[in-house]
Amino acid sequence: MLEMLTQFEMLAYILAGLLFILALAGLSQQKTANRGNKFGICGMALALVAVIVVTLAGNAEIAAQTAGLMVVGIAIGAAIGVWRAVKVQMTEMPQLVAMLHQFVGLAAVLVGFNSFFIEPGGHFQGAMNAYHLGEVGLAIFIGAVTFTGSIVAFLKLSAKISGKPLMIPGRNAINAIMVLVCLACIGWLINTTGVEAGLVPLIIITVVSLVLGAHLVLAIGGGDMPVVVSMLNSYSGWAAAMAGFTLGNDLLIITGSLVGSSGAYLSYIMCKGMNRSFASVILGGFGDGATAGGGEQKDYGTHTEITAEETAAALKAAKTVVITPGYGMAVAQAQFPVADLTRKLKERGVDVKFGIHPVAGRMPGHMNVLLAEAKVPYDAVFEMDEINDDFGEVDEVLVIGANDTVNPSALTEPGSPIAGMPVLKVWEANHVIAFKRSMGNAGYAGVVNPLFYNDNTDMLLGDAKGSVEAIIAAL
Ligand code: NDP
Repeated sequence: MLEMLTQFEMLAYILAGLLFILALAGLSQQKTANRGNKFGICGMALALVAVIVVTLAGNAEIAAQTAGLMVVGIAIGAAIGVWRAVKVQMTEMPQLVAMLHQFVGLAAVLVGFNSFFIEPGGHFQGAMNAYHLGEVGLAIFIGAVTFTGSIVAFLKLSAKISGKPLMIPGRNAINAIMVLVCLACIGWLINTTGVEAGLVPLIIITVVSLVLGAHLVLAIGGGDMPVVVSMLNSYSGWAAAMAGFTLGNDLLIITGSLVGSSGAYLSYIMCKGMNRSFASVILGGFGDGATAGGGEQKDYGTHTEITAEETAAALKAAKTVVITPGYGMAVAQAQFPVADLTRKLKERGVDVKFGIHPVAGRMPGHMNVLLAEAKVPYDAVFEMDEINDDFGEVDEVLVIGANDTVNPSALTEPGSPIAGMPVLKVWEANHVIAFKRSMGNAGYAGVVNPLFYNDNTDMLLGDAKGSVEAIIAAL
């Protein structure tokens, strides 16, 4: 019986691991993302069933004590998960993701403490004891950094605290000292035996890494938050992998490593998209328009406005149109009328394409998700690098709720907080129509956008959804 269970566990874990890899492969392309998600759901369901069956069937005593608790725990967790997933607005997705990362971090800390109190050297001897306590220390270190880092990211993304970087003098030295203290305490911990001796370094590790996580993310400015989101995604994976080591669960190690490494790769892509080095983001301080002199003082002249009817006329006359959506499209939920407008223009023979900046919106792939939701054909959607050299041949560009990602000062003003970030060169087109609600607000990085004052740019002010619907009516 025991042998059968072990074989079932191994088979289920291998299958679930394969399904997670297929899920990641599917999620790498918009066309296959839905299928990828389904693979992920199947993998997770299989993993849950396998863990429950093996735990319950493997030990009758544990089964009697915990079966009821497990059912209640899963039912409560599933109910909260379904409730949040149904209720969450598309614009709240980034903060929801940050909130979910914090749970992974907290879980790793709790698993670490649990494992410490159950096995504080009583079971393991010598090198095994040191190895076990090393795992516990690392799991708590990574988990605690992820936990508080994700809480701060959640607060920043939901605008509950300011997005400006916290610039404490000597902050990099403070971070380095905190990391060294944690590593030294892990060294201390692995040389202890018993709860009493190990608890002191463990508590120091927990407290210092909780502070470190919060401080790391507090020091990162608005414009660099995309990297933080993907970085915390990666940390949450490594925290889960460490919990897998502590629990001796191979599948958790595989899954955690998949999340950790794919999150690290995503951070690399986001850094590339923003032309930042990973180190410069982590060391923090970018994105503070006020301190970096981000162009607010400059006078860019006056803007010109356009009506929905005039926009419709311009679109009718155009041969090529490129739409560059941004966070405002998500706020306005304008993706459905935008998809409708695209269909109508295509029926008239206009060539309509979408240009997507890698950090548009508030989470990686935000615009792609919205456009897929509205069933915009995948072959009309282009990444920034694929389309950025073609704007010179475009008749009309519709900038729908984008700001930082189309801001030319990123290329022309070295003092700008977004200096060096590649942007969509929409101003090279014949004519630009920019959708936003008012001229008063800047983009996420808090920088004024000179594009809106260019001679070949007209502003269509108002809620993007209403504006696009008015254009469709006028067409
Ligand atoms: P921005 O956040 O820079 O600007 C959004 C624009 O949308 C503003 O001009 C705003 O102007 C307008 N807007 C808001 N609501 C509406 C509405 N209802 N109707 C019409 N317009 C509206 O957008 P981008 O997508 O260009 O840039 C994304 C920014 O977010 C970058 O700085 C990026 O670094 C950052 N970020 C990205 C993350 C990611 O993972 N993608 C994560 C965290 C941050 P107004 O208010 O006047 O309407």
